[in-house]
Amino acid sequence: MYVSKMAGIGMTSQRARNRLVEKIRSMGITNEKILEVMRVTPRHYFLEEALASRAYDNTALPIGYGQTISQPYIVASMTQILCESGPMGRVLEIGSGCGYQTAVLAAFSEKVFAVERIQALVKRLRANLYELKVPNVKVKHSDGFNGWSEHAPFDAILVAAAPVGIPEKLLEQLAVGGRLVLPVGTGRSQELRLIKKSGTGFKEHVMDEVSFVPLLDGIE
Ligand code: SAH
Repeated sequence: MYVSKMAGIGMTSQRARNRLVEKIRSMGITNEKILEVMRVTPRHYFLEEALASRAYDNTALPIGYGQTISQPYIVASMTQILCESGPMGRVLEIGSGCGYQTAVLAAFSEKVFAVERIQALVKRLRANLYELKVPNVKVKHSDGFNGWSEHAPFDAILVAAAPVGIPEKLLEQLAVGGRLVLPVGTGRSQELRLIKKSGTGFKEHVMDEVSFVPLLDGIE
């Protein structure tokens, strides 16, 4: 596991991460394993140097191409929703960006299938995961509206950008017992929804109000 590779990380960023973990704990993240993974995952690796000093603020930050690294609390919250609602064997992540959420998910899954539509971010995502020695992730440059049918069905699907409605193919690619967590809607804020697939159909729950960039068609 990549955690052992982080022994050399400076105390300053370790203290900043500890503070961040206490912040997200106070906001309702109760899963100790998630808090521990957030404590050791170096978010500053995923950012440009000029932004690294803000890496442990609980905010989204720009990663270029009009996109953002997700807010740490939201990363923890979506991970907690998935981890506490069923198995995490095969996980599909749509909108992997710089790979921070991917690295967190990888600590809980047998395999993460990461899909990103912007080629330059795919390159960065691959480099970041390689550098941090996260072994159990497969990355694809593709339009996440299609999911990743060759590796379906998935136990869990996380979407980090907001579609107007729930993409049909993602529902199709869920295993029975599988869960999909995603923001849905247009405008500045959207609904974070959890959809569970059973043998007889789907059940939907609204979990939170969130603010994501839109899920866009096609690749670039
Ligand atoms: N969770 C990531 C990025 C969040 S930003 C991180 O923390 O770094 C949302 C990401 O979704 C962006 O990188 C954007 O390019 C990507 N995206 C938007 N529409 C997409 C689509 N249809 N398929 C795949 N990725 C998409």
